[in-house]
Amino acid sequence: MTVLVTGGAGYIGSHAALALLDGGRNVVVLDNLSQGHRWAVPAGAAFVEGDCGDYDLVRRVIAEHEVTAIMHFAGSIIVPDSVIYPLEYYYNNTVNSRALAQAAVDSGIRHFIFSSTAGVYGEPETTPILEDFALKPISPYGTSKMMTEKMLADAAIAHDLRYVALRYFNVAGADPAGRSGQTSRKATHLIKIASQAATGVRPKMAIYGEDYETPDGTCIRDYIHVTDLANAHVLALEYLEKGGESDVMNCGYGRGFSVREVIDAVKQVSGVDFTVDLAERRAGDPAALIAGADRIRQKLGWKPVHDDLTAIVRHALDWEESLKGREVSAA
Ligand code: UDP
Repeated sequence: MTVLVTGGAGYIGSHAALALLDGGRNVVVLDNLSQGHRWAVPAGAAFVEGDCGDYDLVRRVIAEHEVTAIMHFAGSIIVPDSVIYPLEYYYNNTVNSRALAQAAVDSGIRHFIFSSTAGVYGEPETTPILEDFALKPISPYGTSKMMTEKMLADAAIAHDLRYVALRYFNVAGADPAGRSGQTSRKATHLIKIASQAATGVRPKMAIYGEDYETPDGTCIRDYIHVTDLANAHVLALEYLEKGGESDVMNCGYGRGFSVREVIDAVKQVSGVDFTVDLAERRAGDPAALIAGADRIRQKLGWKPVHDDLTAIVRHALDWEESLKGREVSAA
């Protein structure tokens, strides 16, 4: 009984692998190391270097490691890049997921957890965002994830496969014990960028727009600690194993912080008053995105334990410090 974790050398995948290992499960990580790092694969997990879209390889890994479930994290995640390189995003996120799902079905895998995104909703008119809101992604990234959700939904009707798609809001922080964190070569996420400014990895940072219709004019997001998110994946797997129906679930805390509030928290926790410029709005940034977060609590019994901006920031900063001297270049 082994869980195949695609993208397990990356940020969220490595934390999910840790959560599975902590729970006593066997893990095999499949990662092509295009973004992740070999050293980020948790000790105790088997590792195979390769593409999750390589059907024959996936079939072999499933057979050799006696895989009974898949958690699928591998993919490209930078929204503006997806606008510039849409076909690459459809390939990495949709075409490869199709091959992975085919290999799963053909190998008799019955439980599949998919790493989806709040980006599938686009710019909803109201917040909090509920799972049954219309899916209107506004980037190729969001569309590529939505298409995979649809494929899974159809495959689950046709085959003996059930899935949970977890729609992440703003994932941040790092393993509280310092075993993993965000290592992406090209950082774009607010808490990562602010942590890099606070630790001197980058000289300064910018706020993208201060004229939004929010109390302080900056965008509001629902930041969720990566360890709580990783645990949600383990619970989703247990839910399927107990016979739970296929479903989609938002992953957020149901509350939000503005960009300014986040930057203030990073300054306060780090004690560093780094320079913050004001820049133009970034294309496609909705003013506020907050998860309607009841379904995941009700269906999975998920009880977050790190719903605390200070803790999220503290763990992100600790991880950033620990990265110094390692082979990770900041973009
Ligand atoms: N943001 C910012 N400066 C940065 C990075 C992000 O002002 O250097 C803002 C961004 O415009 C958005 C919020 O922070 O309003 C969260 O952005 P992030 O890229 O972390 O996540 P997203 O919500 O785009 O998935």
